[in-house]
Amino acid sequence: MTEIPLSILPAPRIVPRDGHGISRKDISPNALRVLYRLREGGFSGYLVGGAVRDLLIGGHPKDFDVATDATPEQVKSLFRNCRIIGRRFRLAHVVYGREIIEVATFRANVDDGSGDRETVGEGRLLRDNVYGTIEDDAVRRDFTANALYYTVDDFSVRDYVGGFEDVQARVLKLIGDPEARYREDPVRMLRAVRLSSKLDFSIDPEAAEPIPRLAPLLSGAAPARLFDECLKMFLAGHAEKSFLSLEKHGLLPVLFPETAKAIITNRSGALRTMLVQALRNTDQRIAEDKPVTPAFLFAALLWPAYCRELAVLQKGGTDPLVAQQRAADRVTLHQADRIALPRRFSQPMQEIWLLQPRFGQRMRKRVFRLLSHPRFRAAFDFLELRQSGSPEVADDVAFWREAQLQSPEQLADRLGPSKPRSDEAVEEDGVAVEGDAPKKRRRRRRKPANAEAASVVGPSE
Ligand code: ATP
Ligand code: MG
Repeated sequence: MTEIPLSILPAPRIVPRDGHGISRKDISPNALRVLYRLREGGFSGYLVGGAVRDLLIGGHPKDFDVATDATPEQVKSLFRNCRIIGRRFRLAHVVYGREIIEVATFRANVDDGSGDRETVGEGRLLRDNVYGTIEDDAVRRDFTANALYYTVDDFSVRDYVGGFEDVQARVLKLIGDPEARYREDPVRMLRAVRLSSKLDFSIDPEAAEPIPRLAPLLSGAAPARLFDECLKMFLAGHAEKSFLSLEKHGLLPVLFPETAKAIITNRSGALRTMLVQALRNTDQRIAEDKPVTPAFLFAALLWPAYCRELAVLQKGGTDPLVAQQRAADRVTLHQADRIALPRRFSQPMQEIWLLQPRFGQRMRKRVFRLLSHPRFRAAFDFLELRQSGSPEVADDVAFWREAQLQSPEQLADRLGPSKPRSDEAVEEDGVAVEGDAPKKRRRRRRKPANAEAASVVGPSE
């Protein structure tokens, strides 16, 4: 921990009610209840962290955290609806239906809850459970903007680290020595990128400078935590900005090593274009309150890696269908070293990839099968997305867009007579289709060679 001797900390700046814009009506009534109850119980209680920061810039916090000098047990004694969670650092959760107000006792030093600490070398004391003063609590936080305390005693904001001014200037500054703070917890580099994108804050040059140098430290962070950070970065309405910022600060190669490599080696730039478009669409969908899924998001984030791997396998002469599955498996496996993408997302992600070549088929039976595939819609949306980098899929997009709107009869007419069964079997693409009768194994007639895989990794991809 960077020791910031408390003696050199200036007295807190107290910003009175008329010096800031936080109004009680913007605070969750449940959070206010907690603050008042703590006060009645003789304890101090403050709204803290992201909520105060967001309120100061006129935003709507998604959750309200409280910091207090009461121990978790003392908090529990004040609330019937309270449970204590956490083993290494105990926190009180006060539960109001679906809303949970997290109440943390002031603490000294860091435990970010990551579980990463254990991997840090010998000699570091695990001082997780050391309670502290409000000053200790302020300086162990990451950015000055995240270390402001709002009290219902007099509705003032207390600032121990200069965060109030930094929020006004919309800048993220690390508390203490930036390099030391990133070494302590490398995920703070991602938080800098994420929060600056989300809030439209700049990253203070001193906080930005060490990031490209220290980026490799992120590979030691817990993959489950990085998955959570990714969801916050890419599924919260600011995915495009976050991605550009990751690139700018040299973090992309640590987080998505194979995608970063593929983007660099892809001369046409189509893979990057497609990915940025995917993130822009995601932001758009969130703005329109439409659902977004981690499976689709990761299908896009790892598509460049998948295409690159597939191209390598095909060059080596691997059968296209085998190559597709193998490329999908390899990319999924390699990426798992960094980011723990749960299977319930990696499996549909792979399906989205593996369905892509099937959009090139026009055999009547296959068209109907693909249309009724449970992953059709996601795979079709993905095909549309690919069009941004690979215009050659435009015909397929047009065909399938119309196919979805046609009645089965209209579609059947458009496709013409079904070909004889024997022909179907010859053209079997090997992609498992539910409800398929077992097929005789036949040698595939390839015309042209590698046509399917080529349609996935088109010339511009
Ligand atoms: P968001 O709006 O995305 O929730 P947040 O700042 O509230 O942003 P949280 O992850 O909810 O982020 O964390 C709550 C608070 O805990 C932060 O405002 C900060 O004060 C502190 N904090 C979180 N992560 C760290 C960390 N890695 N190092 C130091 N302090 C942290
Ligand atoms: Mg928060």
